Amino acid sequence: MTKKPAEGEMEAVYASMGISREVYQYGEKTLQELKGRFEAIDRIAEYNQLKVVKAMQECRVSEACLLGTTGYGYNDLGRDTLEDVYARLFCAQAALVRPQITCGTHALALALMSNLRPGDELLSPVGKPYDTLEEVIGIRESRGSLKEYGIRYRQVDLKEDGSFDWEGIRAAVNEKTRLVTIQRSKGYQTRPTLSVERIGELISFLKGIKPGLICMVDNCYGEFTQTVEPTQVGADLCVGSLIKNPGGGLAPTGGYLVGRQDCVENAACRLTSPGLGREVGASLNALPSFYQGLFLAPTVTASALKGAVFAANLYEKLGFRVVPNGSCERYDIIQAVEFGTPEGLIAFCEGIQYAAPVDGFVTPQPWDMPGYDSQVIMAAGAFVSGSSIELSADGPLRPPYAAYFQGGLTWQHAKFGILKSLQRCLDKGVVPVIPRSLL
Ligand SMILES: *Cc1c(COP(=O)(O)O)cnc(C)c1O
Repeated sequence: MTKKPAEGEMEAVYASMGISREVYQYGEKTLQELKGRFEAIDRIAEYNQLKVVKAMQECRVSEACLLGTTGYGYNDLGRDTLEDVYARLFCAQAALVRPQITCGTHALALALMSNLRPGDELLSPVGKPYDTLEEVIGIRESRGSLKEYGIRYRQVDLKEDGSFDWEGIRAAVNEKTRLVTIQRSKGYQTRPTLSVERIGELISFLKGIKPGLICMVDNCYGEFTQTVEPTQVGADLCVGSLIKNPGGGLAPTGGYLVGRQDCVENAACRLTSPGLGREVGASLNALPSFYQGLFLAPTVTASALKGAVFAANLYEKLGFRVVPNGSCERYDIIQAVEFGTPEGLIAFCEGIQYAAPVDGFVTPQPWDMPGYDSQVIMAAGAFVSGSSIELSADGPLRPPYAAYFQGGLTWQHAKFGILKSLQRCLDKGVVPVIPRSLL
C-alpha cells in the first residue's frame, strides 16, 4: 500500500505555506461532509474523459495533427481534425476552433453577426446577457454593434423564482425573430445557472412556436460540468472560450463554435472572408495545447467544481451568503461569496493571489476598470494571462461586496487557494474566529 503523508506532516507543509492549524482542520472537517459530492463530480469527469478520448480516436487524431501550418493555412490537417473532434464530442455537424478567435466575446459576436441579417431580431429569453455582450448587441451604445446594422434586440427576463416566463417568451417571438441566445451560466448575476436539461426544455418550447429559429447557447463556464452538452438537446450553436473549461488550462488563447453546418459556415465566412471560410487560418503552434488541453478539460473542470463546492461550504458555515449555496447542484464553475464589506472582498482576493504559482508575491489592488461604475479587485496569478479556468477571483467594490471565485487547474491547488483566502480573512479580522463547534 502507498503510504499517506502523516497528519502532522500535512499540517506542517500547510503551516510552512502560512495556513494555521485551525484553518487546516476546519478544511478537513468540511471535506469529510463532501465525499459524496466529490465522488459524483469524479464520475462526471470519468464519463467525459472517455467521451473526449472516443472522439479523438474516432477522428483518427495522429502525431501529424500536432504540427501546425503557417501562411494561409491551407490543408491544415491538425486544425481540421480538431474541428472534427469538437463536432463529434458535441454530437454536432461542424465546429470552428481557432486561435484567431480571440476570446469568448469574440466567438459570441462572430456567431451573432454571421447568422443575423439586417431587419432580423435577436431574442434573449433568459434575461440580461453577459456584460461584454451588451456592446456587441448595442444595449450599450458602441461602434459596430448589431444595432448599427439594423438588428433589433428583445429580452424576456426570468421570473422572480428563476423559472422561464413561458407566456412572455411566446409573446416575444415574432416573424422577425431569427436567433435566440441562451446563456447557460449565470455569469456574474444572481439568477440560477441553467442545466442542459432546462435548456433543452426551453429550446423545445421555442421551436414549437417557430421551428426555423436558430437557438444559440453561450456555453462559457459550463462545458464538462455535466455529461451532456446543449447541442445534444437541440441547440443549433454552442459557443465558448478556450481559456475557460475546454482549453483545460493549456490553450493559450482561442474560442470555439460548434453546431449546425450552415451556422458554423456562416461564422467561418465572417471570421475569415466570404469565399474562404474554414479553408484558411494558420494554426501556427497552437494545436498541441488545444488537443492536450481538451484531453485534460474534463478533470480540470472537475477540480474547479470541487473548489467551488468546497468554498461554498466553508464560507456558508461561517455565516456568509454564498451563491449557489453549499448543497446546490452545479452547472458551471463560478462561486460567489458575499462579504458585505470591502475589507472582506479584498482580503479574500488577496488570499487567492497569495496562493498563485505565478505572481504569488503581489498584492492585488482595487482599480477603476473601464466599463465598470465602481472599482474592481482581481486576483489572478495565472500561467495564461486572464485565464479563468485557473484559480482566480474578482469582484466590484460595491454592495453586497461579493467575490466571484472560479477555476483551479488541480483540486489540490484550488483547496490551498481557498484555505489561503480564509486564512487572510482571519488575519485581517474579517472572520474573527472559527467557532469551536465547527472544528
Ligand atoms: C467569460 C464569459 C463570456 C465572455 O468571454 P471572454 O472570453 O471574457 O470574452 C461570455 N459569456 C459568459 C457566460 C462568460 O462566462
